[in-house]
Amino acid sequence: MEILDGKLLSIQIMEEIAAEVKELVASGKRAPHLAAVIVGDDPASKVYVRNKVRSCEKVGFQSTHIVKPSSTTEEELLQIVNDLNENPEIDGFIVQLPLPNHISEEKITLEIDPRKDVDGFHPVNFGRMAQGLPAYLPATPFGIMQMLDRYNIEVSGKECVVLGRSNIVGTPISILLSRKASPGNATVALCHSRTKDLKSHTLRADIIVVALGIPEFLTADMIKEGVVIIDVGINRVEDATAKRGYRLTGDVKYDEVAAKCSYITPVPGGVGPMTVTSLIKNTLRAAKNEVYK
Ligand code: NAD
Repeated sequence: MEILDGKLLSIQIMEEIAAEVKELVASGKRAPHLAAVIVGDDPASKVYVRNKVRSCEKVGFQSTHIVKPSSTTEEELLQIVNDLNENPEIDGFIVQLPLPNHISEEKITLEIDPRKDVDGFHPVNFGRMAQGLPAYLPATPFGIMQMLDRYNIEVSGKECVVLGRSNIVGTPISILLSRKASPGNATVALCHSRTKDLKSHTLRADIIVVALGIPEFLTADMIKEGVVIIDVGINRVEDATAKRGYRLTGDVKYDEVAAKCSYITPVPGGVGPMTVTSLIKNTLRAAKNEVYK
């Protein structure tokens, strides 16, 4: 069994990006610039946004961190989005989800200029991805695809099972794995809460991507020997022995599953770091006008 070390791989990719930024700046261009908007005080969101801004600094990007109180109105947020759309100094930006209940996430996402949508959540980017056209890929699926690529894991012709059909992970990764591309060309089953006899699917799979948000859902009896496991889940589980009173666990019962598979991503240190790196990569692509000419 080999661990898919997302932490190490993300450091390597960040170094590559930093080198490209140096070249861009040396050639007289300005450094790529990412803006991140956060509304309200969701503690997890604050950590995510802080990590994203810190990552920008590491690779030599400019970053702008816009922090707004939870009382911010939808109109005010739409105005911020429009200002960022119009600002030629900003290459890409994200509005951290979830938003407070009185703001429509759909409305905000639709307002973002697809050319600056480095989260890849706008339907225009999603549609382009589905058709195999140049697009900003959503960060988590993009990170998983890079991981499969860099570890030279054969995907073509394999049976893949994706557990979970969210718009940000399950559905897009199922599309990417089945696309006519490399990595890609897999036969994919997208399983969800209404799937009957889930185990019959997972037992056949060569590659399983688990994105459910259910701690230790996938167990050893549900997989065959030699399978590749990508665990997207990040769950806080109470643990009196841990300093913070909780520990992080994935959607996979790690110890027993790891013993049976060929590759596995740990939690933490697997998919998570690759997600942030992919956002940074999308911003570099935006600065270089790689997706929209
Ligand atoms: P979500 O919470 O939006 O949706 C969960 C999905 O699981 C749904 O499609 C549902 O149909 C399916 N599901 C629920 N119970 C099921 C069951 N018993 N059997 C089969 N399917 C079932 O999903 P999400 O936003 O993709 O998040 C999933 C997990 O991934 C969460 O733990 C989240 O924190 C984590 N996540 C991690 C990263 C990262 O960077 N590592 C990024 C995004 C999400």
